[in-house]
Amino acid sequence: PAQGAGDDCLFCSFVSGAMTPDVVLETDLSLAFRDINPQAPVHVLVIPKAHHATLADLAHAAPDSLVDLGLTIRAVAEQEGLAAGYRTVFNTGEAALQTVHHVHGHVVGGRTLTWPPG
Ligand code: 5GP
Ligand code: ZN
Repeated sequence: PAQGAGDDCLFCSFVSGAMTPDVVLETDLSLAFRDINPQAPVHVLVIPKAHHATLADLAHAAPDSLVDLGLTIRAVAEQEGLAAGYRTVFNTGEAALQTVHHVHGHVVGGRTLTWPPG
Protein backbone atom coordinates (compact mmCIF):
# COMPACT_ATOMS: atom_id res chain seq x y z
CA PRO A 1 0.00 0.00 0.00
CA ALA A 2 1.00 3.61 -0.56
CA GLN A 3 2.71 5.59 2.18
CA GLY A 4 0.25 6.77 4.80
CA ALA A 5 -2.43 4.36 3.62
CA GLY A 6 -4.73 2.27 5.76
CA ASP A 7 -4.54 2.66 9.52
CA ASP A 8 -2.20 5.66 9.26
CA CYS A 9 -4.51 7.70 7.05
CA LEU A 10 -7.43 9.73 8.42
CA PHE A 11 -9.35 9.69 5.15
CA CYS A 12 -8.84 5.92 4.70
CA SER A 13 -10.48 5.55 8.12
CA PHE A 14 -13.51 7.47 6.74
CA VAL A 15 -13.67 5.08 3.78
CA SER A 16 -13.36 1.97 5.96
CA GLY A 17 -16.00 3.21 8.39
CA ALA A 18 -13.58 3.24 11.35
CA MET A 19 -14.49 6.93 11.68
CA THR A 20 -17.58 8.68 10.32
CA PRO A 21 -17.45 12.11 8.67
CA ASP A 22 -20.51 14.19 7.72
CA VAL A 23 -21.08 12.49 4.35
CA VAL A 24 -22.61 14.53 1.52
CA LEU A 25 -22.40 12.01 -1.32
CA GLU A 26 -20.96 8.58 -1.98
CA THR A 27 -20.29 6.59 -5.16
CA ASP A 28 -18.59 3.24 -5.73
CA LEU A 29 -15.23 5.02 -6.11
CA SER A 30 -15.55 8.35 -4.30
CA LEU A 31 -16.64 9.84 -0.98
CA ALA A 32 -17.65 13.46 -0.32
CA PHE A 33 -17.94 14.88 3.21
CA ARG A 34 -17.97 18.27 4.96
CA ASP A 35 -14.65 19.82 5.99
CA ILE A 36 -14.39 20.00 9.79
CA ASN A 37 -13.04 23.59 9.52
CA PRO A 38 -15.15 25.17 6.75
CA GLN A 39 -13.74 28.23 4.94
CA ALA A 40 -17.04 29.11 3.25
CA PRO A 41 -20.78 28.34 3.66
CA VAL A 42 -20.14 25.20 1.58
CA HIS A 43 -16.81 23.41 2.06
CA VAL A 44 -16.86 19.77 1.03
CA LEU A 45 -13.89 17.42 0.58
CA VAL A 46 -14.13 14.89 -2.26
CA ILE A 47 -11.78 11.90 -2.12
CA PRO A 48 -11.18 8.69 -4.04
CA LYS A 49 -11.85 5.65 -1.86
CA ALA A 50 -8.45 4.28 -2.88
CA HIS A 51 -5.44 5.83 -1.18
CA HIS A 52 -3.27 7.94 -3.47
CA ALA A 53 -1.26 10.96 -2.32
CA THR A 54 -1.78 13.30 -5.28
CA LEU A 55 -4.10 13.90 -8.20
CA ALA A 56 -1.38 12.81 -10.65
CA ASP A 57 -0.75 9.60 -8.70
CA LEU A 58 -4.48 8.90 -8.92
CA ALA A 59 -4.55 9.69 -12.65
CA HIS A 60 -1.68 7.28 -13.24
CA ALA A 61 -2.84 4.41 -11.02
CA ALA A 62 -6.64 4.60 -11.27
CA PRO A 63 -7.97 6.74 -14.14
CA ASP A 64 -11.53 5.46 -13.64
CA SER A 65 -11.42 6.77 -10.09
CA LEU A 66 -10.16 10.16 -11.29
CA VAL A 67 -13.08 10.41 -13.71
CA ASP A 68 -15.49 9.46 -10.94
CA LEU A 69 -13.93 12.14 -8.70
CA GLY A 70 -14.61 14.78 -11.37
CA LEU A 71 -18.22 13.70 -11.77
CA THR A 72 -18.70 13.56 -8.00
CA ILE A 73 -17.42 17.14 -7.69
CA ARG A 74 -20.12 18.26 -10.12
CA ALA A 75 -22.78 16.26 -8.29
CA VAL A 76 -21.75 17.84 -4.98
CA ALA A 77 -21.93 21.32 -6.51
CA GLU A 78 -25.43 20.60 -7.84
CA GLN A 79 -26.63 19.07 -4.58
CA GLU A 80 -25.21 21.96 -2.52
CA GLY A 81 -26.80 24.65 -4.72
CA LEU A 82 -23.58 26.07 -6.14
CA ALA A 83 -24.93 26.92 -9.60
CA ALA A 84 -23.56 30.47 -9.18
CA GLY A 85 -20.03 29.09 -9.06
CA TYR A 86 -17.59 27.29 -6.84
CA ARG A 87 -13.88 26.56 -6.54
CA THR A 88 -12.14 23.18 -6.51
CA VAL A 89 -8.67 23.13 -4.93
CA PHE A 90 -6.18 20.29 -4.64
CA ASN A 91 -3.35 21.34 -2.32
CA THR A 92 -0.29 19.31 -3.31
CA GLY A 93 2.84 19.17 -1.18
CA GLU A 94 4.26 20.99 1.81
CA ALA A 95 4.47 24.51 0.37
CA ALA A 96 0.78 24.30 -0.57
CA LEU A 97 -0.08 23.17 2.98
CA GLN A 98 -1.26 19.68 2.06
CA THR A 99 -1.77 18.19 5.52
CA VAL A 100 -3.63 14.98 4.66
CA HIS A 101 -1.72 12.82 2.17
CA HIS A 102 -4.78 11.16 0.69
CA VAL A 103 -5.77 13.18 -2.38
CA HIS A 104 -8.78 15.41 -1.72
CA GLY A 105 -10.48 18.14 -3.68
CA HIS A 106 -11.82 21.05 -1.65
CA VAL A 107 -15.16 22.16 -3.13
CA VAL A 108 -15.73 25.67 -1.79
CA GLY A 109 -18.65 27.97 -2.47
CA GLY A 110 -21.74 29.69 -1.20
CA ARG A 111 -20.10 33.12 -1.12
CA THR A 112 -18.18 35.36 -3.52
CA LEU A 113 -14.61 34.04 -3.68
CA THR A 114 -11.48 36.13 -4.17
CA TRP A 115 -8.51 35.42 -6.43
CA PRO A 116 -5.61 34.79 -6.14
CA PRO A 117 -5.74 32.63 -3.00
CA GLY A 118 -3.25 33.46 -0.26
P1 5GP B 1 -5.24 20.12 3.10
O1 5GP B 1 -4.60 21.24 3.86
O2 5GP B 1 -4.48 18.81 3.27
O3 5GP B 1 -5.49 20.46 1.66
O4 5GP B 1 -6.69 19.94 3.70
C1 5GP B 1 -7.01 19.04 4.73
C2 5GP B 1 -8.41 19.40 5.15
O5 5GP B 1 -8.91 18.35 5.98
C3 5GP B 1 -8.48 20.69 5.98
O6 5GP B 1 -9.33 21.63 5.33
C4 5GP B 1 -9.04 20.22 7.32
O7 5GP B 1 -9.94 21.15 7.89
C5 5GP B 1 -9.72 18.92 6.98
N1 5GP B 1 -9.76 17.98 8.07
C6 5GP B 1 -8.74 17.67 8.92
N2 5GP B 1 -9.15 16.75 9.82
C7 5GP B 1 -10.46 16.48 9.53
C8 5GP B 1 -11.43 15.63 10.12
O8 5GP B 1 -11.16 14.90 11.08
N3 5GP B 1 -12.68 15.62 9.56
C9 5GP B 1 -12.98 16.40 8.48
N4 5GP B 1 -14.24 16.32 8.01
N5 5GP B 1 -12.09 17.22 7.90
C10 5GP B 1 -10.85 17.27 8.43
ZN1 ZN C 1 -5.77 7.24 2.70
